[in-house]
Amino acid sequence: MKRVPSKCDVVIIGGGPAGSSAATHLALAGIDVVLLEKVKFPRNQVGESLIPHFWKFTDMTKVSEKIQQEGFVAKGGAVTVWDNQVHQIKFSEFGFTRPGLHIERDRFDEILLKHAESCGANIFNQIAVKGVDFSNAETPRVFYTDKREQAYIESSIDCRYVLDASGSNTCLANQFKSRQTISAELNFLSMWGYFKHSSFVGIDRNCHKIEDLSKVKPVTFVMSFGGGWLWHIVLREKTSVGFILPSKTTVGMNRQQREVFFRKSCKQLPHLSTLLAPAQFIEGSLEFRPDYSYYSTNVCGENYYCIGDSGAFVDPVFSHGVQNAFYNAAIATTAIKASLKNPKNRKRYSQLCESRMQQFYGFSRALALGEFGNNGIKPDLVKNLMKSLPPLELKLLLLASAMTNRSDNFYKLLNEAGLLEAFEDSSAIKSMGKFDQLSF
Ligand SMILES: Cc1cc2nc3c(=O)[nH]c(=O)nc-3n(C[C@H](O)[C@H](O)[C@H](O)COP(=O)(O)OP(=O)(O)OC[C@H]3O[C@@H](n4cnc5c(N)ncnc54)[C@H](O)[C@@H]3O)c2cc1C
Repeated sequence: MKRVPSKCDVVIIGGGPAGSSAATHLALAGIDVVLLEKVKFPRNQVGESLIPHFWKFTDMTKVSEKIQQEGFVAKGGAVTVWDNQVHQIKFSEFGFTRPGLHIERDRFDEILLKHAESCGANIFNQIAVKGVDFSNAETPRVFYTDKREQAYIESSIDCRYVLDASGSNTCLANQFKSRQTISAELNFLSMWGYFKHSSFVGIDRNCHKIEDLSKVKPVTFVMSFGGGWLWHIVLREKTSVGFILPSKTTVGMNRQQREVFFRKSCKQLPHLSTLLAPAQFIEGSLEFRPDYSYYSTNVCGENYYCIGDSGAFVDPVFSHGVQNAFYNAAIATTAIKASLKNPKNRKRYSQLCESRMQQFYGFSRALALGEFGNNGIKPDLVKNLMKSLPPLELKLLLLASAMTNRSDNFYKLLNEAGLLEAFEDSSAIKSMGKFDQLSF
């Protein structure tokens, strides 16, 4: 069994998209990096829709080819029915030459982690980090439990920098007590399950039998309901269906009652029931995650960085999560590389990184949570990011924000940034890709 070294330059906690891509960035730069992942890969994970923006990050980590070779389902965009209003986005109309993807996360995350290892990162599965002692600022000590053998072993590893990529476990935010829930009104619960032989929504906005998946490009289908929304994501062998609902919807229900609620809704809701008419539910596949909208007030320090979901999590309506994890990994590892070269400047690098990360999180939150307010957002940082975006990208985001009823906050920030005027056709954009109804 491979031994965990007693020291290295960087310890990464967690092997999801944030941790594995950070490990690859560092290993490609010749940095001694150890990644500790608490479970054995491949492992299940929710978050199966990727927007095409992610390719630029996988190009940077040189893993795009391996992803292409896997043959994940390529999607052409999204169709939403929000408050009975139908919208559609086609990625090809916004200059993307590569598709979005519908991915099985167990396989996608495994490809990324194996790639990190092939680039020279030292990867360990079944090792759970318990906490970090930062009392010696030059050499943080990471404590872990090695679960690879029946008798668990407690040990530690010294390093110069810690990268927390532990996802919703938020290892360091828990330790620092810096985790905040976005707002009391935003207590949402997600529940999702899998079906075999579901029909899917094609790029033509029609309902297609699963046999046509190789002939018609699918889209991610999103629909508002019950104060929240649902997704329908067709994968290679099964289809993922999930609800994001106010937690109060299922208050007092046990697991079995929630499953009854889920399956009954799937049978009754318009559009979804048609898509699922030929489908069979995969028994035992229903999973839940409670109250997941949070952020940490402390994501970067001189010797640590919290990236991906370990720094914040936003409602996933725009499929931003994995892309956000990749973005954080890219900038945090840039700061670490610079700090290893110029340790005297490491505080400055971490401050720069913190402001970039808060900016991106704030931007995602403004887009996804709309009228729910500015809770946890630094509006000036978000406005600066808006100003730096290419016009076509901004147009895509304007269109995306108009697909839900959550665009008020986003529009307000755009207006304050002086960008709405530049879009003389902003009201035309709002009605772009708008249709009266779906044919099924
Ligand atoms: C309901 C729902 C739907 C979503 N839909 C989408 C979507 O369609 N598209 C999208 O892009 N995103 C989506 N997301 C978000 C996406 O899943 C996350 O943003 C993404 O997984 C973040 O990657 P990560 O690497 O930060 O964390 P994770 O993928 O959660 O990885 C964290 C890893 O850390 C490990 N770990 C945890 N604690 C420890 C520890 N103590 N020691 C060692 N290892 C540890 C875990 O085992 C895990 O493997 C969705 C999220 C939810 C909840």
